[in-house]
Amino acid sequence: MSMNTHPAGWKLELHLMGRLGSPECPVVVRLEEHLLGCHRCLDQAEKITEFAQAMRAALVDEPVPVR
Ligand SMILES: [Zn+2]
Repeated sequence: MSMNTHPAGWKLELHLMGRLGSPECPVVVRLEEHLLGCHRCLDQAEKITEFAQAMRAALVDEPVPVR
């Protein structure tokens, strides 16, 4: 497996949501190692995180019924 291979966007997204696998999972370990050395993917990861936070904020803005 080449270190020059960038992980797919969906893989990054799953990882950022903590749904790719456990921290010991070889796929997760390899992805994190790649992120440490790849600014391009780190950039993408930041954008995905920002997007996810915006989505969450939008959901929180929904009116909550008060009793
Ligand atoms: Zn990369």
